[in-house]
Amino acid sequence: MSDDNRVYSYSTVLMGSPILLKLFSHDEALASRVFRLIKRYEDLLTVNRAQSQVMDINHAAGKHAVAVSRPVFELIRCAKAASMIKDSAFNLAIGPLVKRWKIGFQGDSVPPADEIAALLTITRPEEVMLDEASSSVFLARPGMEIDLGAIAKGYIADRVRDYLRKEGADLGLINLGGNVQTLGSPDGGWSIGLKKPFAGDALIGTLTVENRSVVTSGTYERYFEQNGRRYHHILDPRTGYPLDNALDSVTLISTDSIDGDIWTTLMFGMGVEKGCAALRARPDIEAIFVTKAKEVVLSSEHHFRFTLLDNGYRVTGSTA
Ligand code: AMP
Ligand code: MG
Repeated sequence: MSDDNRVYSYSTVLMGSPILLKLFSHDEALASRVFRLIKRYEDLLTVNRAQSQVMDINHAAGKHAVAVSRPVFELIRCAKAASMIKDSAFNLAIGPLVKRWKIGFQGDSVPPADEIAALLTITRPEEVMLDEASSSVFLARPGMEIDLGAIAKGYIADRVRDYLRKEGADLGLINLGGNVQTLGSPDGGWSIGLKKPFAGDALIGTLTVENRSVVTSGTYERYFEQNGRRYHHILDPRTGYPLDNALDSVTLISTDSIDGDIWTTLMFGMGVEKGCAALRARPDIEAIFVTKAKEVVLSSEHHFRFTLLDNGYRVTGSTA
């Protein structure tokens, strides 16, 4: 067990996000090793810089295959599998559209419709070709780009949990800017806030979990406004425009954060009804939908406890 019951917090900024590590022992050396581990993965996976293993693949689109390290290959394989699910809203080849919209970055604006239509033709996940034997990835068309922004943090959060466990920590929490992974069960569990959309740090409520990941994707996380309309960063791969439906955010509670990260995108695409129905086949994964109509819908509540703090919201169970 830990030396005492105090929580020690360590923070930094990586992947363009505030990173928070909580430990139950004072161990700065361990915290720096965790932050170095995160940085190593960021360096392999980022598409926000000129060079990374993923950028090497993107630069070679339409030309040749690129051999990558095993973890990168496996993450891409996993992202491709999620993209190939029928009617999936998840698409690892969404890069050209993400780069064109630049949502949340300098110069973001609504692209002309014909440009979006043209870019849709180079975002086909089936044209991300994988070769298992050589761990190599080939993008079949020039201009294609992989973007792992919807899955990388989940993957990395799981690696941090595994590392803390290997280092003998029995309690720990890592928050990679919205992707939370927890190790162990402190007294009363880990309490995690559910953010109120477009309201800064205000909370709708809190979740209590043990040994679970909590991942949120929200339309309020990154967006811009043009002519009175809001455009957020989760794109619909079928239309090329931001996913437009009744949802403000989706939070996934799962054992592995990579599942949560993938499923938030899938849930955004499906909406509340279809999403809850799909989750019935996965009792290990649960969702909290926050709608624009100020409803909080829980697909189920087996592996967490939700406490409402904001009475402007109404909590309902799934009717699916
Ligand atoms: P998340 O925060 O996990 O919801 O991921 C959002 C990020 O994933 C965006 O900032 C883009 O980089 C990328 N992205 C946007 N739309 C999609 C999509 N439909 N499928 C996969 N990745 C996406
Ligand atoms: Mg995600």
